[in-house]
Amino acid sequence: MAAAGIGPARALGPRQRRALDAICDTFHPGTAELGATEAFFELFGSELRPAELRQLLWLLSFFGVRRFDRLPQERRERILLAWCDSRSVTRRAAFHGLRKAALALAYGLPGQSGSPNPTWERIGYPGPIGAVPDAPPKAIEPLPVTGDLELDCDVCVVGSGAGGGTAAARLAAAGLDVVVLEAGGYSDDLDFDGAELKGYRRYLGNASAATRDNSVGILAGACLGGGTVVNYTTSFRTPDEVREEWAGHGIPAFTSETFTKSLDVVCERLGVNLDHNRRSRREELVHRGLARLGWREDLMPRNVLGCDQGVSCGYCPYGCRLGAKQSTVKTWLADAYAAGVRILVGTRAERILVERSSARGVLARTGEGHAVHVRSRAVVIACGSIMTPALLQHSGLGNDAVGRHLRLHPVSATLGIFDGEVRPWEGTMQAIYSDEHRHLDSGYGLKYETTAAHPTFIATFTPWRGAGSHAELMDRARFGVGIGALLRDRGEGRVQVDRGGRPIIRYHLSSYDAEHLRVGIEGMARILEAGGARRIVLGHAQLVEYEPGTRGTLEDYMRAADVAGYAAARLSLFSFHQMGSARMGGSPNDSACDPEGQVWGVQNAVVCDASTFPTASGVNPMVTIEAIAHMNASALAAQLA
Ligand SMILES: Cc1cc2nc3c(=O)[nH]c(=O)nc-3n(C[C@H](O)[C@H](O)[C@H](O)COP(=O)(O)OP(=O)(O)OC[C@H]3O[C@@H](n4cnc5c(N)ncnc54)[C@H](O)[C@@H]3O)c2cc1C
Repeated sequence: MAAAGIGPARALGPRQRRALDAICDTFHPGTAELGATEAFFELFGSELRPAELRQLLWLLSFFGVRRFDRLPQERRERILLAWCDSRSVTRRAAFHGLRKAALALAYGLPGQSGSPNPTWERIGYPGPIGAVPDAPPKAIEPLPVTGDLELDCDVCVVGSGAGGGTAAARLAAAGLDVVVLEAGGYSDDLDFDGAELKGYRRYLGNASAATRDNSVGILAGACLGGGTVVNYTTSFRTPDEVREEWAGHGIPAFTSETFTKSLDVVCERLGVNLDHNRRSRREELVHRGLARLGWREDLMPRNVLGCDQGVSCGYCPYGCRLGAKQSTVKTWLADAYAAGVRILVGTRAERILVERSSARGVLARTGEGHAVHVRSRAVVIACGSIMTPALLQHSGLGNDAVGRHLRLHPVSATLGIFDGEVRPWEGTMQAIYSDEHRHLDSGYGLKYETTAAHPTFIATFTPWRGAGSHAELMDRARFGVGIGALLRDRGEGRVQVDRGGRPIIRYHLSSYDAEHLRVGIEGMARILEAGGARRIVLGHAQLVEYEPGTRGTLEDYMRAADVAGYAAARLSLFSFHQMGSARMGGSPNDSACDPEGQVWGVQNAVVCDASTFPTASGVNPMVTIEAIAHMNASALAAQLA
């Protein structure tokens, strides 16, 4: 994992500290005054690997020795831009790590003495919405861990997100004694105040995780409920053509009635519906664009009950304060808890224990340092597609396929600036989508989706070619609509671990996928132009933009995008969906798990999360993950009976 920060702030010498302050101020003047250096360390430093820490300290010394802080703004900008445009991927990666962190702090940190962030008034952002005053108390009481602890159970489930939560409930319903270990903390309605940086604490690496070359930012949940707490509630069933493709990987169950039933059970439990699809102002404009183009548009299925589809819904990425989002905390984990499942939070599994080729428990550690030893008859691994292969590899389990075949659904975004105010942070997260280009080539292509977006999110997607031009774009953000093109990637990445068990994520966009992405880049611009956008800006390291009818054309824009290129750390790409890194398959030659999710060669170690996907799902994956977890857990329950 490449994160954007470093270890404790005190590790910095005065020159390094001044250099970091100056870097933050170069990206956005005034950021250092907000306490950016301390926050930089505190928020983004915890997940850093020692090698990354050394690199960053070196970088700061490099800037420190050259007295970066004493240079005028214009000269500092030129130095940073030289890194951005460097031929060296390492330099570009460093630039983007620093850029994303500095801009997130500039637009996310509170002002002096807890006042609102100084940029918010300027850009018209109201700030955090606050928790609902009469939010109900938390429904789950995690098992307290006050010292070293030993537990016995039938199944230890590691991870409580889409996969782990579902598996825990299914196993408990089958009468098994289950313990759930979750590394993250437990937040619920009363904690969800919509503050961006606070919300990112529920994400992997506080939302600073990225591929090793920083070319793709990795967003994943890291709290009780995992991604289902912070996700956007889009709830697609697995498409038929994907089920057929997966059945062809030696897993006939994917086209069977069993999997259909699991999908039905999941959709029923999550309350997936089409009754909460009021279009926001953002989506009205996208809708207008799609309609004028005559492109396909459909209503988004969502797992919400009682969603306001208004101001609150826009704050959904930081947790649903209304309790409308049917996360695993509200559904499967609630069921599991009611059935007597013991749930431990803040407890990270470090090793899976194996005796005579059979999983026999888990060694874990709490944030306070207490050792937790769970003895069990089976272990379910559901840490998400980055941490599951990391845990397996660190435990010395599985074959060579563990960690390989990682898919990311890379998302590229485009900002359209309109005449009227849009307030892109408000309204239903995702009410509509377009599958116009979903089938570019035998099931591979992309989806167009738009989501509510808040300042740090917009700031980090928006090109930075100098503080002035970036701030000017941010000033226009309230008139902006961001569209994402979500790519079904055929190319693969890989998760490896360092000696400490921390993941290193490698991923390069293949030329096949880049071609599809290019279609998406043009498609996003077309939708925005047809919707009436006055200015269209691509999320690229270069400034690739045009003003329809005024300055430049779509053809110029695409030419500029091609010249700027799609190589590593050139385009702003993010992954909201990681998949396939411990995939199921019919043969141990090219898969990590058998057709029931059991790790090849390790009995009773069953993977139940997105890592099991044989290839990318092509649709937002939550429902598919839960259905696989339901199916695999059912098979495990039958085996243990
Ligand atoms: C911002 C965002 C928006 C999204 N929107 C949508 C959407 O609208 N629709 C959709 O279908 N999908 C969406 N997704 C994706 C979806 O939420 C994830 O794909 C899904 O949650 C992954 O499920 P999982 O079980 O694989 O892992 P996760 O849900 O990520 O759960 C893994 C859990 O394991 C824990 N863990 C990790 N390592 C350990 C360890 N060693 N010990 C103990 N616990 C550990 C983590 O803390 C985490 O809570 C979104 C994701 C994000 C980040």
